[in-house]
Amino acid sequence: MTTTARAIVIGGGVVGVSVLYHLARAGWRDVVLLERDELTSGSTWHAAGGMHTHNSDPNVAKLQQYTINLYREIEQASGQSCGVHITGGIHLAGTPQRMDYLKVALARGRILGLDMALIDAQEAARRFPLLDPRHFLGALYAPLEGHADPAGVTNAYAKAARALGATVHRHTRVTAIARTPGGEWHVQTTDGDFIAEHVVNAAGLWAREVGRMVGVTLPLLAMEHQYIVTGDIPEVVASPTEVLHVIDFEGEIYMRQEGRGMLIGTYERAGVPWAEHETPWDFSHALLPPDLDRIAQSLEVGFTHFPPLARAGIKRVVNGPFTFAPDGNPLVGPVRGVPNYWAACAVMAGFSQAGGVGLALANWMTDGDPGFDVFAMDVGRFGAWATPAYTRAKVTENYGRRFTIRFPNEELPAGRPLGTTPIHAAHVAHNAVFGAAYGWEYPLWFAPPGMPAVEEPTYRRSNAHASVGEECRAVRTGAGLLDAVTFARYEVTGRDAPSWLDAVFAVSPPRAGRIGLAPLLAHNGKLAGDFTLANCGDGRYLLFGSGVAEGVHLRAFEAALPATGVSVRSCRDDLFGLALAGPHARELLARVCSEDVSNAALPFLGVRHLHVAGAAVTAVRISFTGELGYELWMARDDERRVYDALADAGAPLRLRPFGARALNSLRLEKGFGTWAREYRPIYDAVEAGLERRIDWRKPAFIGREAALRLRAAGPARRLVTLVVDAADADAAGDEPVWCDDAVIGWVTSGGYGHAVGRSLALAYVPATLQDGAPHLAVEILGERRAATIVAQPLYDPGGSRMRLS
Ligand SMILES: Cc1cc2nc3c(=O)[nH]c(=O)nc-3n(C[C@H](O)[C@H](O)[C@H](O)COP(=O)(O)OP(=O)(O)OC[C@H]3O[C@@H](n4cnc5c(N)ncnc54)[C@H](O)[C@@H]3O)c2cc1C
Repeated sequence: MTTTARAIVIGGGVVGVSVLYHLARAGWRDVVLLERDELTSGSTWHAAGGMHTHNSDPNVAKLQQYTINLYREIEQASGQSCGVHITGGIHLAGTPQRMDYLKVALARGRILGLDMALIDAQEAARRFPLLDPRHFLGALYAPLEGHADPAGVTNAYAKAARALGATVHRHTRVTAIARTPGGEWHVQTTDGDFIAEHVVNAAGLWAREVGRMVGVTLPLLAMEHQYIVTGDIPEVVASPTEVLHVIDFEGEIYMRQEGRGMLIGTYERAGVPWAEHETPWDFSHALLPPDLDRIAQSLEVGFTHFPPLARAGIKRVVNGPFTFAPDGNPLVGPVRGVPNYWAACAVMAGFSQAGGVGLALANWMTDGDPGFDVFAMDVGRFGAWATPAYTRAKVTENYGRRFTIRFPNEELPAGRPLGTTPIHAAHVAHNAVFGAAYGWEYPLWFAPPGMPAVEEPTYRRSNAHASVGEECRAVRTGAGLLDAVTFARYEVTGRDAPSWLDAVFAVSPPRAGRIGLAPLLAHNGKLAGDFTLANCGDGRYLLFGSGVAEGVHLRAFEAALPATGVSVRSCRDDLFGLALAGPHARELLARVCSEDVSNAALPFLGVRHLHVAGAAVTAVRISFTGELGYELWMARDDERRVYDALADAGAPLRLRPFGARALNSLRLEKGFGTWAREYRPIYDAVEAGLERRIDWRKPAFIGREAALRLRAAGPARRLVTLVVDAADADAAGDEPVWCDDAVIGWVTSGGYGHAVGRSLALAYVPATLQDGAPHLAVEILGERRAATIVAQPLYDPGGSRMRLS
C-alpha cells in the first residue's frame, strides 16, 4: 500500500518531531514522520538535556531562546511533561581573556534582551557552593539555562503534532528515496511506500546515509561524547533549591544536578569521531564503551576547582555519539540541486536548538522564507569544497575547542590550506597571514619581512595593526593589489539572460560595456543579495557577490531559472581576480596593457577586455576601497603571469599587496556595507541605505510589491557610521549601541580607520535617531565608549577619488 503526504519527516529524534510539530502548527496537517525504531533511538535518548541561549551567532542565539521558551507551549498542547528545570547557570572565568569573553557574551546578550550579569568569584561560590573561588576571576550568570528530559521533550512534540493531525510511524525505516515522473518523492520503507511532495532529512546520526539516498554528501560527522554521573554530594543534597548549571571553561567541563549528585560532561581536546564512513543501522538506544582515560585530565581539573566532586565517586559513565557540522552550527534548509528535499541535521544542541530549527524550517517550507536570519545554520553555507576529509578535520577541531575562546581575529588551522589560488606562493613569499573563506585561502595582511607571519589572537588591536595601517596608506597614496578570490563570481549567458536578469534583480541590467550595482530582494521584500553586474558586451554577463554566500545565492538563482534560455554558473574554478586600487592604479594598468585605459575608454562603472602579459583580462572599474580601482578577472592559468607583470611594473609606483583587514578598514572609512554583515536577510533596502540602488519604477522584479509596502511603512531602523572613542580595542560586530541607559541598536562591523585615524563602526540604530545625537556609546569589552553618528563618510565624502577622471 502506498501512503501519500504533503511532507515526510525522516527521523524521530528531538529535531524530527520538532519539524513535524511546526509543520502541523503552520497548517500542514498532512505530514508524516517515519522513525526506524522507537522515538529518541538515535543520539537523543542519552543526551544530558542541557539548554542554554549562548551561541556565537546572535541569530542562532535568538532561536535557542525561542526553543527554551517553547517547552511550556508543547507541554500544554500535549499534556506531556518535558521535565524542564530552569535552574539558571554560571559560566566561570579563570583568566583575564576569559573575563573578556564573558564581557562580550554579556554585551551580545543585551542585544537579545537576555538578563545576564557578571558576578565575582565570591558571589559565584555563594550561588554554587561546590566551587573553590580561588580558581576563578568571575562568572557570567545566565538565568535562562537548565535542562529538560530528552524523552519527555521528544514525546511532547510528537503528541502535540499528532493532536494537530500529523502522523508518526515507528519501526519504519526509510530504505530508498527516488523522484517520481511527476516530480514528487517516492519514499520506500521497511513498512510500505510513501509518496510525498517534500522530504525532510532529520535523520541525526544517519543523516549522511539519508543524504546519500538522493546523491547528496552532507558535511557532518558524529563524535563520541562522555559524561559521568557522580554519587551523592552532601552540598547538593543540602541545597534548598536545585543547583545551578555550570560551565568551567578552564576545566572544559559542564555540569548540572542529577538526582543527589552531579552530571559532569566534557569536550576533551583529543575528541574521537564515531562511525566515520557509515553509521550502522542496528545502532539503537545504544551506548559506546566508556573511556575515562580520555577525559581524566578535564575531570582532574574539575575535582580541583570543585572539591566535593572528588569525594563523590563515579556512579555512571555515558559515552554516546552525536553529529556536528564543520563549524558546529546546524545544517538546515533546502538542499541545492534537490528541489523539495530539506535538511534538519547536524543539530549538536538539540535541547536548545530543535525548536528554532523546526520553526525556521517549517516557515521555509510553508511560506518560502524561514522568517529569521538563518545564514549561520543554512545548509547552503557549505559547498562541494567541504569534503569528508575537510569535515573530519574541522569537526574534530571544533569539538576539541568547544570551550576554547575563538577571538574575533582568529583563524583556525584544521583542514587548511584547502583551495589556493595561483598567486598563493607569491603571497607566502610576501609573508602573508592567511584566512579561509568558502574553501579558499586569502591574505588577511602581510607581516613585515623577517617577522613570523602569525597574528596573535586577541580581543584588542593585534600585532597586525601597524602593518594593516601601512597597507591602507599604500592604497590611499599609491597602489595596492588584493586577491579577489573571496568574491563570488558567476557567468550568466543565454538568449534570455537580459530579460531574466531584469525580472530577478531590483535594477535593469546595464548596457554593454557597463556595470551596475544590483541588489537582489527576497519575496518578502528584504535583502537577499548585493551584487555587481557587468555586461561584457559579448552576450555574457558577469555577476560578482559575496563569496561566503555563493551556495545560498546559487540556490536562489536556480530556483528562479526557467527550463531553457538562461544559464547561471559559478566561475569559482575558472575565473580568478586581482583588485588593483589607489591613485596610481590607472598609470600602472596602462604600463602593463596595450589597450587604452584612460577615463574615456574605461570610465567609473565601465567594463573592458584588456590584454595583460599576453593574458585576456576582463577589467571592471569599481571601488570598494574608495580609491580609483579596477577588478581584473582572468583564467586560472594566467593569474600568476598577470600578477607578476603588475608587481614588476608597480614597483616604481609604490605598489604593495594588501589584504582583507586593510580592505575592511578602507571600506569602513567610506561607510560601505558588505553582505553577511550590514546586508542580511533581516534588513530591507531602505533601512540598509540601499534604497537608491533600487529602480522602483521597474514594473516587476522579485520582491517588488513587498519592498514597496516596506518602503511605504517607513523604516524602523537605519544603518549609520559611528565614530567610536575606542582605546586599544575596536568594535568587531555584535556590540550593543547604547543611548543613555538603554540599548537601542547593534554594531554590524567595526575596526580602525587607518587613513582617517579614527575607530569606526557600522551599526543599526532607530530610524528616528538624528546624526550627531548625544549620549551614544558602543559597549566594547565591558566599557561604554562614546560614539557619534557621522552624516557622511569620513573619507572622501563626495566620492571623487574613485570616480577620478
Ligand atoms: C552523551 C551526550 C550528551 C548530550 N548532551 C546534550 C545536552 O546536554 N544538551 C543538548 O542540547 N544536546 C545534547 N546532546 C546532543 C543531542 O543528543 C542532539 O543534539 C540531538 O539528539 C540531535 O537530535 P536529532 O533528532 O538530530 O538526531 P537523533 O537523535 O540521532 O535522531 C535521528 C532519528 O532518525 C532516525 N532515523 C535515522 N535514519 C532513519 C531512516 N532511514 N528511516 C527512519 N528513521 C531514521 C533514528 O532512528 C533516530 O531516532 C548530547 C549528546 C550526547 C551523545
